[in-house]
Amino acid sequence: MTKLKILFVASEVAPFAKVGGLADVVGVLPGALNNLDCEARVVMPLYRQIKQKYGDQLYFMRWTMLKLGWRSMYSGLFSLEKDGVTYYFIDNEYYFGHDAIYQDYSFDIERFCFFQRAVLEAMGDPMEFEPDIVHCNDWQAGMIPVLLDAHYRPHGYHKEVKTVLTIHNLKYQGIHGVERIADLCDLSPQYMTAYGVLKDGVPNFLKAGIVYSDAVTTVSPTYAQEILSGYYGEGLDGVLRNYAYKLTGILNGIDLVGYNPETDPSITKNYTVKNYKEGKAACKEALQERLGLDINAGAPLLGMITRLVDQKGIDLLTRVLDEMLYSGMQVIVLGTGDPYYEDSLRRMADHRPDQLSINICYDDELARQIYSGCDMFLMPSLFEPCGLSQMIAMRYGTVPIVRETGGLKDTVTPYNQFTGEGNGFSFSNINAHELLFTAKYACDVYRNHDEAWEGLVEAGMNGDYSWNSSAKKYKELYNHLVNEDSHE
Ligand code: ADP
Repeated sequence: MTKLKILFVASEVAPFAKVGGLADVVGVLPGALNNLDCEARVVMPLYRQIKQKYGDQLYFMRWTMLKLGWRSMYSGLFSLEKDGVTYYFIDNEYYFGHDAIYQDYSFDIERFCFFQRAVLEAMGDPMEFEPDIVHCNDWQAGMIPVLLDAHYRPHGYHKEVKTVLTIHNLKYQGIHGVERIADLCDLSPQYMTAYGVLKDGVPNFLKAGIVYSDAVTTVSPTYAQEILSGYYGEGLDGVLRNYAYKLTGILNGIDLVGYNPETDPSITKNYTVKNYKEGKAACKEALQERLGLDINAGAPLLGMITRLVDQKGIDLLTRVLDEMLYSGMQVIVLGTGDPYYEDSLRRMADHRPDQLSINICYDDELARQIYSGCDMFLMPSLFEPCGLSQMIAMRYGTVPIVRETGGLKDTVTPYNQFTGEGNGFSFSNINAHELLFTAKYACDVYRNHDEAWEGLVEAGMNGDYSWNSSAKKYKELYNHLVNEDSHE
C-alpha cells in the first residue's frame, strides 16, 4: 500500500508568510492529511522574511537556470521539515527578496509565472518527490494545470499527476495581456482561446485553473453553490457553471491549538466550557477597562474583527450603529483597510467613547481579548467564502451574529426559540435593519433568557472546528481522482 502523495502550491503558508486565510489553510491542512496517512508536502516562494527567520534551517537542494520569456533566471530550491511536513521553497532574489509578500500587480503576474514554472521544473527528481496530486491554491497557482498540459505531459513527464484547484477568493483572478502571458508561460496560440486561458479576451489565471484542473474546490459548500450565480460569481459564474460537475465545497477548519481559551496566554483568564462564566466575565471587564468602555457586566458587548472592506458589510454596521448604541449595546471594532471605512468609524467613536471602541490596527493579542471578552461577534458579510472569525468566536464562547451567506451559513445555525437549538443568530438580506433587529433580538435573549443563552454559548464552545472531517473529504477527493484502488 503506497501513500497518496500531494504537493500543495501556494503563495502564502503560515507560519512562514501570511496575509490572509489562505495561509492558515495551507499551514494546517497538509499536516492534517499526513495524520490520515497521506504524504502531503508544500511548495512556496522563498520570501525575504523566510530567509531571515529560517535561513539557518533551510536545506539547499539545487539550483538551475529557468527560461522565462527571453530571460534566463536563477531558480534555487530549498527545503525544510517542520512538524512532520516537508516544505519546499523557490528562491530568486529579484522576485521574492522583498519585505511584502505581494507587490505591484503587474510585477506579481510575472513573479507568479516564474514561481509556477519553477515549481514544475523542480517537481519530480529535484524535489525527490513525484506527487499523485498537485493541489493549486488561488490564481497564483492557477496556471499549473495548463503548464503541465503544454510543457510536460506531451513529453512524457508527470503524465499521471492530477490537479486540484482551490479557490479561496474568487475576487482575485490574475489577469494580464495575451502577449506577455504567452511569453512568460511560453504558451502557443492553441491555449490562448476563449475555451482555454482567455476570459473576455485576456488571460485569466483563475479561469485557466478552473478549465484545466481535474477538480475545483472552494472553502464552503454554500459558497460553492453561490458562485454559480451572477451576484457572487465575479464574472466567472458562466465558466463555473460549465464546470460545475467538478466543483465542490469543503469547509475550512481552524487551528484548535492556537485558538484555545483554555491555554491562550493572551487572554485575561483562561476558561473551558465548564467554567466559562467566570472566565468570560473577567475577560469582559478587562477588555472594557483596556478600551475605555463603561465597565458594566450586564451591557451586551459586541465585537467585530475584520479587514475593513465592503465584503465585510461595514456599510450595514455604520448605518445602524447609532441605533445599536442607543439600545444599550457596547461595540468594539478591530480592523484595517479601506480609509473611507477607517475614517467613518473613527468619527463615530468620537461621540460615544464609553460605548464604542474603534481600533484601526492589526493586533493579534487584542483580537484574542475581543474573542474572549465579548458576548457576541458581528459578521454581516455581503459574501464570505468560509470565514474563520465566526468559528474562533464560537470556540471562545462568543455568540455570532451573521448574514446567511457562504461559510457563515454553513457554520452558524440560528437560534430556535421553540427547541432552544442553535449556536448563533443570522439574517438573510443585505439590509442594515435586518442586522439591527437581529442584534436586538440576540440582546433580548442575552438579557432575559439565561438558560437559552447558556445553550447558545455551550453549543458554540462544543462545536467541531477541527480539520479532521475536512481533511478526510480532501483525501476522498484525491482518491477519487487517482482512481484509487492502490491507495487504501
Ligand atoms: P478573511 O480571510 O476574509 O480576512 P477570515 O474570517 O477568514 O476573513 O479570517 C480573518 C482572520 O484575520 C481572523 O483570524 C481574524 O481574527 C484575523 N484578523 C483580521 N483583522 C485583524 C486585525 N485587525 N487584528 C488582528 N487579527 C485580525
